[in-house]
Amino acid sequence: MTAIVALIGRPNVGKSTLFNRLVGKKLALVDDRPGVTRDRREGDATLGHLRFKVIDTAGLEEADKDSLAGRMRAQTETAIAQADVVVFMIDARLGLTPMDQPFADLVRRSGKPVILLANKAEGKKGTDGIIESYSLGLGDPVPFSAEHGEGTADLLEALAPYI
Ligand code: GDP
Ligand code: MG
Repeated sequence: MTAIVALIGRPNVGKSTLFNRLVGKKLALVDDRPGVTRDRREGDATLGHLRFKVIDTAGLEEADKDSLAGRMRAQTETAIAQADVVVFMIDARLGLTPMDQPFADLVRRSGKPVILLANKAEGKKGTDGIIESYSLGLGDPVPFSAEHGEGTADLLEALAPYI
C-alpha cells in the first residue's frame, strides 16, 4: 500500500506550492487572491527515495461564502482521515494567526502522526514564527521553504518513518 500524506493548513501557507514541488507538475493552482476556487488534488509524490500519494487541500469557493468555513473544514477532515501522516503547514514569517488554530485542532484531535512544517522560512527567515509554533503542541517545527526547496532533507527525514 502506498502511504498517503495530507497537506493541511489555512489558505496561503504554501500547501499547493509544496504539492507542486512533490508531484513535479503544475497540477495545483497557486494563487495569492483569497476566494479563488481551489480544488482538492491528489498526486504521486517523489521526495528523494520516498514515493507516496499526496493530497493538497483548499476548499475556498467564491460562490458560496456562507459555507466557506464548513467546506474547508469538511475537506480538511476528509483528507486527514485518509492520511497516514499529516503535514501541518504554517507561515513562519507571519507566525501563528487565529486562522491556524481550527486546522491545528482538527489535526490534533485526529490522533494522526503530524509533521509541523514552518514554511516560507528561506534564508533563515521566520525565526520568531518558528518559535511561536511550538505552542501548537504538534511537535518540533521543521523550518522549510516550499518555494525554494530549503529544508527538503529534514522533511524527508521526518516523513520517512511513515512511508
Ligand atoms: P495554499 O493556499 O496553502 O495552497 O498556498 P499557495 O501554495 O497557493 O501559496 C500562497 C502564496 O505563498 C503564493 O504566493 C506562494 O508563491 C507563496 N509561497 C509558497 N511557499 C513559499 C515559500 O516557501 N516562501 C515564500 N516566500 N513564499 C511562498
Ligand atoms: Mg492551495
